[in-house]
Amino acid sequence: MTSKRKSLRRSDKLIRKAIEAYDLGGCPFCGGPPEDFAPYTVGTDLLGQTIACCNACADGRIVSVLGIGVKMPDDQGTQWSIHDRAFFELHSDRRFHVRKPWRREAEILTCHVAEPAGSVPCNAVFVVRLAPGIRTRFLCPFPNPEEADEAGDEAIAAQTGQSVAQLLAKTTSALRARSENALLLDEVHLGLAWTALFSGKPWQTYTPTSRSR
Ligand SMILES: [Zn+2]
Repeated sequence: MTSKRKSLRRSDKLIRKAIEAYDLGGCPFCGGPPEDFAPYTVGTDLLGQTIACCNACADGRIVSVLGIGVKMPDDQGTQWSIHDRAFFELHSDRRFHVRKPWRREAEILTCHVAEPAGSVPCNAVFVVRLAPGIRTRFLCPFPNPEEADEAGDEAIAAQTGQSVAQLLAKTTSALRARSENALLLDEVHLGLAWTALFSGKPWQTYTPTSRSR
């Protein structure tokens, strides 16, 4: 083996180790946990060590970029899908769940429904259980997601201007319109399907065209 090939193999190993450390421990600079679909940078730092960190922290800290990656969901689905599955397993009588979005979950949705970032306060996700194991998600402007989740129907109506029955009816019709889509179950299962709910605006749904995302 040539010495060049040897050093290549060594740097491969260092890169793998750096990504593993980022996956397990988060970004070494801001401490942020790696979110599904969040881009990260691998490279050498000022001391010449190979590290991986979130893209926001890479500037000025990574001197030489060796690669760019995206944190992919594991086999069980996205982080938000795993959370929602566990929630409904625990609360089998509930039809919906209001929670804060993962940062990356909100960014992807906002980008794919072509809403200018920051134009609406999308601080909550309204998760609807359509059937055991099948859920859909709506990014919503809820002033107080935790309170809405605990207090139930009346708090949701007060915060969104729509009753839970109205919200659920919209969910069903939005899904019926897309029932021809063979990818639907996968999307719902993996948490890749969203419909945006903005008061006074038409409903918009993001349908992924590629599984490689
Ligand atoms: Zn960071």
